[in-house]
Amino acid sequence: MGLSMTRIEDEIKITDAQQVTVLGAGKSGRGAAALLARMGTRVFVSDGSEMDEVTRTLLRSLDIPFEEGGHSHRVLEADCIVTSPGIPSSSSVIQSALERSVPVISEIELAYAVCRGPIIAVTGSNGKTTTTSLLGHVFEVAGRPAHVAGNIGRAFSEIADSVRPEEFVILEVSSFQLDHVRSFRPKVSVLLNITPDHLDRYGQNFEAYAASKYRIFENQREGDFVVYNADDAIVATGVSRIHPELGVTSLAVSLEAPVDRGGYLSDDQLIMNPLGAEERLMQVNEVALRGRHNLYNSLAAAVAARATEIRSELIRESLSTFEGVPHRLELVREVDGVKYVNDSKATNVNSLWYALESFPEPVVLIAGGRDKGNEYDPVKELVREKVAVLIAIGESAGKVHEELGDLAGESISAKSLEEALEFARLLAKPGSVVLLSPACASFDMFDDYVDRGDTFRRIVQEMN
Ligand code: ADP
Repeated sequence: MGLSMTRIEDEIKITDAQQVTVLGAGKSGRGAAALLARMGTRVFVSDGSEMDEVTRTLLRSLDIPFEEGGHSHRVLEADCIVTSPGIPSSSSVIQSALERSVPVISEIELAYAVCRGPIIAVTGSNGKTTTTSLLGHVFEVAGRPAHVAGNIGRAFSEIADSVRPEEFVILEVSSFQLDHVRSFRPKVSVLLNITPDHLDRYGQNFEAYAASKYRIFENQREGDFVVYNADDAIVATGVSRIHPELGVTSLAVSLEAPVDRGGYLSDDQLIMNPLGAEERLMQVNEVALRGRHNLYNSLAAAVAARATEIRSELIRESLSTFEGVPHRLELVREVDGVKYVNDSKATNVNSLWYALESFPEPVVLIAGGRDKGNEYDPVKELVREKVAVLIAIGESAGKVHEELGDLAGESISAKSLEEALEFARLLAKPGSVVLLSPACASFDMFDDYVDRGDTFRRIVQEMN
């Protein structure tokens, strides 16, 4: 039996696909392969690295043939290729597929083709997971059936074929997933911000990265909504290019000025008007998450939820009860009058900026790790203003020192996170905050940002 992917453009002939290759056997690749198997399509999985035993066992149990440690020519013997977010578009395997006109789609495009429920898709350089979880919480409080999926945990393809038409899917979407969409059309798209990140994957070309984010709304039409950050010029430019004849409703979010339709801040009040009538949502100090960035996230989630006709009382209740997501400005513990905050998920300079901006207290900052081509100018003023002690760690410790060291009250390096926390404990004065907000990836010293944040949390919890 072939695929019935009627929502994918005919020109790529995927409607008749009999044989599909899935590239990459991570979470989304495994999800895509299993979905294709459930649909009765012949599927072959190819991973450039070694797979773990769990993955091999899973694929064998589904009778899915696979290869690992490299891509053979068999990859191209397919009507379509489903690629994984970890595989750059410039890689030779993708390039060979494109040269031979084998269509390449992302896993969310595949999942979208079989999903019967409406989608709220959230993207941006920062805040995706927070906003997606917040929306999940709003739907839960409102008693509306919804599935939370995507980058955040469960792959979209794991659940796509079991979604009922009345159930929403709240989907965290990365630019890598958007690079290979064709007909992906969310009912509500949310574009939080676009700041430099992952430029290594976009040939150091910021416009190319921004363009992949804009793809979240490229297929939206009449009856759909785009919720966007009007204070972000790059985001606003992209949204302003949506052709008015398409009938997409743009809902702006701003902390700087009132908006015609969307949500905004006015005298410490959050105001919303996505469906026309203006309503006072809540006081800023009733919002559970701290920091200005979280006001953007909260307001965007509120406007998106309101666009799906959830009542504002329920949205207010959700925003004031949301407990946050681990590793994002997570208060771990207070020891000797010093707060220890885990912001391990801050893997770029912009998220470090918002972290520093969130604290009125003096900060002992632990930063550094694997550099992704960081440009530190935007945080220099805040470092000068707030950072009493800078502790640089990881591969990029030298660069962090060089760029920010002179601006902090004091600047040192540590060989490990353990040592950084020993220094922090010695140097932090009561009333200050010890903040792990690395602005870098974690792979030089840890498995991932979760491992880095868990290590921070464990050491802090063991302090006596
Ligand atoms: P993502 O899923 O996009 O990586 P997260 O919600 O996991 O976003 O947050 C990642 C980091 O960015 C955390 O350090 C968090 O404090 C910070 N952050 C969250 N929302 C925003 C925002 N709207 N703007 C800038 N930084 C943010």
